[in-house]
Amino acid sequence: MQKKIFIKTFGCQMNEYDSNRIYDSVKRLGFIKSEDQGNADCYLLNTCHIRDKAKEKVYHEIGRVKKLYRGRKKPIMIVAGCVAQAENQEMLNREPYIDIILGPQSYHKINDLLKNFINKDKIEETEFDTILKFNYFDKIENKNSNVSSYLTIQEGCDKFCSFCVVPYTRGPEYSRPFNKILAEAESLISNGAKEIILLGQNVNAYSYKDKFKEYRISNLINKLASYSELKRIRYTTSHPRDMTDDLIECYSTNKKLMPFLHLPIQSGSNKMLKLMNRKYTVEQYIKIYEKIKKINSSIEFSSDFIVAYPGETDDDFNKTLNLVKKIKFINSFSFIFSPRPGTKAANLDQIKKETAKERLLKIQEHLFKSQLNMNESFINKSIDVLVENKINGQKKLFGRNKYMNSVIFDGEENYIGKNINIKIKEVNQNSLFGKIEKNNMRAA
Ligand code: SF4
Repeated sequence: MQKKIFIKTFGCQMNEYDSNRIYDSVKRLGFIKSEDQGNADCYLLNTCHIRDKAKEKVYHEIGRVKKLYRGRKKPIMIVAGCVAQAENQEMLNREPYIDIILGPQSYHKINDLLKNFINKDKIEETEFDTILKFNYFDKIENKNSNVSSYLTIQEGCDKFCSFCVVPYTRGPEYSRPFNKILAEAESLISNGAKEIILLGQNVNAYSYKDKFKEYRISNLINKLASYSELKRIRYTTSHPRDMTDDLIECYSTNKKLMPFLHLPIQSGSNKMLKLMNRKYTVEQYIKIYEKIKKINSSIEFSSDFIVAYPGETDDDFNKTLNLVKKIKFINSFSFIFSPRPGTKAANLDQIKKETAKERLLKIQEHLFKSQLNMNESFINKSIDVLVENKINGQKKLFGRNKYMNSVIFDGEENYIGKNINIKIKEVNQNSLFGKIEKNNMRAA
């Protein structure tokens, strides 16, 4: 009988990509994907360390799994991802239910670990073997068949922002070979991908050198655009310091690159940016914004904000508010600072909780208003939507416009994978709701 694996994924798109690649790998051992978390021979938690209390959430999840399998054969319990990397042996010591701890740069070892698990010794694998990992996965076809597919091109980070664990959990910056990325893109496209989202912790720091030249993300974007079946290209997450002119130029020359850029700034105060070790100034950020807007004023931005970072005064916070009023980010993430063990900011004096909450509410009021204003601007307009899938249990379809807004409408499944025009009738802060324009009926 075939063995089943269930993977629960937390956090960013890179974890989602990794989980799919783990499925591709363990399939070779005869594992099939289980949709039922209560019925698996192997249960893998792919964890994220970005949010508050990440470690406790993992123990909580394991508590749930234990209950699910009470009185039955327990699954092989694997904790993977950034929490596994950060906590490693300590997790094995604290929670005997865990069988394998697997760091993000050791995923290529998963098949061997599962094969050898028969002797039931606890295993911890948290080496930074990034090159071996990608060499291993380059030999395994990416079976993902999503209309919008992720493709990791770069991992790790050398920037060491004071608040962030990524350099410790994902290791130093590594860029995959140009031709391997293209080979994977080709298989995604032959599986039906119409949109590819290039991923990396510092995706725009992508740099791969062979004997002849250095390839940057701009080279990748331009090459991908030559595949006629591929309709849209995106990339995330970018660092302002790596927004080089060749990449900015893509917005003027490349019609498939979507006019929406997620570019985290974190704060509108230079003092705070320095304390966070972000290595750019507000003025430099605005210059990038203006350059891109000059190329095409309809390009929109989203960002990330940390409020109440240690040392943030009212004046610093007001500078962030002013920036948010100036640049109407159409979709952003905002959080109260929370310390991550092992980072430079871990032991700094924190700002009072009430002040932090007040600041978060204030900034979100502005961010959410910009988001809603943007969404309302689509009402009664016909917009181009790439249809991604059917919504589970409903007769509705889900797609995205060029700005990544979710668009929901009634329609038949034969629209999936197509670009169609949707007339928007209603919106809320997160989604647009509309109807298929009549002329699409003939095209489908
Ligand atoms: S650039 Fe900063 S925030 Fe982004 S992954 Fe690197 S250290 Fe973390």
